[in-house]
Amino acid sequence: MPILRQYIDSFCFREKLAIPKRSRLYHIQPIGIGTHLIESLTGYIARLAEAHCLPPGVLMTKELAPLINKSYGCVNLHRIYNLTGALNSTGVMASDLVQALETLTQQKNLHFLTWLTWSEVFPSRNLLRPHRAWCPFCYQEWHVTGQVIYDPLLWTLDGVLVCPNHQQPLSQKCPHCSENNFLLAWRSRPGYCSKCLRWLGLPLETQLSDRKESIQDELDFQIWIAKTVGELLAQSPSLKFSPLKDSIAKALCVYVDLVSEGNIAAFARQLQIPRNTVWLWCKGHCLPSMKALLQICYCLKVSILDFISQGIEPINSCEAMRLPPSQIQTKPRANSKPFDANRVMQFLEEVLASNECPSPSMEEVARRVKCDRRTIYRHFPNLCRAISAKYLNYRKASLAKNIEQSCKEVRLIALNLQSQGVYPSENRVEEHMTMPGYLRYETVRTTLQDIQSQLCK
Ligand SMILES: [Zn+2]
Ligand SMILES: [Zn+2]
Repeated sequence: MPILRQYIDSFCFREKLAIPKRSRLYHIQPIGIGTHLIESLTGYIARLAEAHCLPPGVLMTKELAPLINKSYGCVNLHRIYNLTGALNSTGVMASDLVQALETLTQQKNLHFLTWLTWSEVFPSRNLLRPHRAWCPFCYQEWHVTGQVIYDPLLWTLDGVLVCPNHQQPLSQKCPHCSENNFLLAWRSRPGYCSKCLRWLGLPLETQLSDRKESIQDELDFQIWIAKTVGELLAQSPSLKFSPLKDSIAKALCVYVDLVSEGNIAAFARQLQIPRNTVWLWCKGHCLPSMKALLQICYCLKVSILDFISQGIEPINSCEAMRLPPSQIQTKPRANSKPFDANRVMQFLEEVLASNECPSPSMEEVARRVKCDRRTIYRHFPNLCRAISAKYLNYRKASLAKNIEQSCKEVRLIALNLQSQGVYPSENRVEEHMTMPGYLRYETVRTTLQDIQSQLCK
């Protein structure tokens, strides 16, 4: 037998070629596994549908429904719009969908895009919000930096109200049509409103509301929530333990021992929670809601992940962890470093005198000088106000400049479309704008309307 023939025989027949299984739908990677901004399952479906040039409603009906083949209709979007939050949650709707999507895309680990990992420890009731929430600044940042636009799972939790990256409230109403969005709708698309189909991102300069001192405590708490829940989601794929039904009860008992020497009544008093409620939780008769758990963890100065792991891992350093009752916090943590008034004053004066552009906010200044912002305000209220005013002026000027630029751009785009014989509708013009969010400003919108009415004459 010729040598070449021998070689072909051994290659093709004796050693079988391993050809990977083909997937029916695109093998799209989920975004952010192992990070605090891991993608949500509903967001993944919307991206998958977009990659196939289909509305998610069609993808659900034509591809997922035959595979799931159940009568409760988790794939019939028209029937479950109000319940689409459950597709990211802890129940059977989420697990069925994960299984079907993994079959169709040949992706593994899609359950991390839901709250399924935590199904034993978090009651599903009121866990997730019924409507979509989003950070317009994240959308815009990803758009400007050429990253993929997607919807993180963190935004679905009812208790998370702010974006941990931008420290701004999440939006729940479209700025164009003032409507809520379902978590997954027939025409869902990450970054866009599923009702009016317009862009939801906003440049950071459009955030002009200067935060009031009075809400700072609440804001600190909200940022802490977003960060601790984000950590929980980031660690989900690499957990060294399985979160079980009794984990919370065991963890609570550990902390009752640590904080109040096993006295449930004293523990409940310090946390300002009814004694019977804490007793029921400790005995494992019912589970605290996620919101209650976050409140407890905040008071105990412990992350939610560390809290839950106390109910699973053996405690080695009880003495080191012992928390005297006086240390339980009901307010945000104070800075432990002594306050160096001279150093801080000098720093503030330098900031005021500098021509730095963009001018820093007080929050940024506090971060740079490594001091608590409220402490600085207490010592130097006038300097702080001056820095805030300078920052606000910069924001206003930048906004005015961007509005002016957008007006010019809108005019050019509209005339260009007109010259191609295309009517310059808001949607069409917005698609070509560098900062599409600016069309929500009256001046920019009026500019377009003027051109439109001139064209009609
Ligand atoms: Zn953000
Ligand atoms: Zn809308």
